[in-house]
Amino acid sequence: MSLLSQPEAFQHALAAWYTTAQRPLPWRTEPSLYRTVVSELMAQQTQIKTMLPYFERWMQRFPDFKALAAAPGEDVLKHWEGLGYYSRARNLHKLAQTYVALETKPTTAKEWQALPGIGPYTSAAISSIAHNYPAAVVDGNVVRLLARLTNDARGFKNNGEAVKAFTPTADTVLNPKTPGDHNQAMMELGATICQKSNPLCTVCPVVQFCAAAAQGTAETIPNIQRKATEQVEIDRLWIVHDDKLLLHRIPEDAKQLAGQYELPSSCHFQQTFKLGKPLATKSRSITNKRIKETIYPLKPQQSSPKSHASNLYWISLEEIDNITLSGPHRRWIKELLSMSHS
Ligand code: SF4
Repeated sequence: MSLLSQPEAFQHALAAWYTTAQRPLPWRTEPSLYRTVVSELMAQQTQIKTMLPYFERWMQRFPDFKALAAAPGEDVLKHWEGLGYYSRARNLHKLAQTYVALETKPTTAKEWQALPGIGPYTSAAISSIAHNYPAAVVDGNVVRLLARLTNDARGFKNNGEAVKAFTPTADTVLNPKTPGDHNQAMMELGATICQKSNPLCTVCPVVQFCAAAAQGTAETIPNIQRKATEQVEIDRLWIVHDDKLLLHRIPEDAKQLAGQYELPSSCHFQQTFKLGKPLATKSRSITNKRIKETIYPLKPQQSSPKSHASNLYWISLEEIDNITLSGPHRRWIKELLSMSHS
């Protein structure tokens, strides 16, 4: 049975599976437009199981668009801390402010896309799930599923190109009567059954429509070029004085991590340092960057900030829990403080 010649039979098989197999997520068991919007933005670049406690905490502090719109930016960032990709928190904040001010609220995908931070994926997800609007969602999971179902081995330079290429197929197979459930079922099937490696074809509810399973090619599809990994090395300075730690606050106009604190680097100071034995070396990955950060101890009198605008602040050790740090920097600071106290 081919997917494109029998879209209704495919929709039926998918819907039957989703009815029983869907995970009981809080935005599904207690749905609302606001909860859909927050869950969709939080779920981008983050695994569902990681975001669940953040979602609950967010709902307690910002229960609706109005509460979020009225909250200070610092507070919003603080509740996002640890999730990474902070532009999503800023966008969600701006979106709430725009939404509450609108006299006519958006319902279609096009209307949602006119709001800050909302792209084609999010507008299709929100409008279909919350307003039953017939727009097909195409994310990485859906691309993989459609590419395998149609055994499409074309090569793509990046995810964006693949999303564009599979949007017409996604539109063709979309169930116009229940677009929200259909979209969620496609993403859920991609995430839980049609996984990147080891797809679970033997228990797949749509295996009878799958050309790649029939040909034994599933694991090689889709064929999307991976970005080359970029290696980055950064020195970090550990400067403690009178129970205060010197931290750098990333400027508000920075493209990434704006407004957050981090351990300073030597580039934030006037002089060059002769750095001794490091306290620790840490590695992390952000998208295609592999970042190695080496933390060196420095005496406070050795350092003088580059300028008054260098955004360096002494933060008392008691205050550290109340400021917004990136997840890894908070972990490393805690670890180094516990080492210095042991
Ligand atoms: Fe994916 Fe296998 Fe299902 Fe095809 S049969 S959609 S490859 S899990």
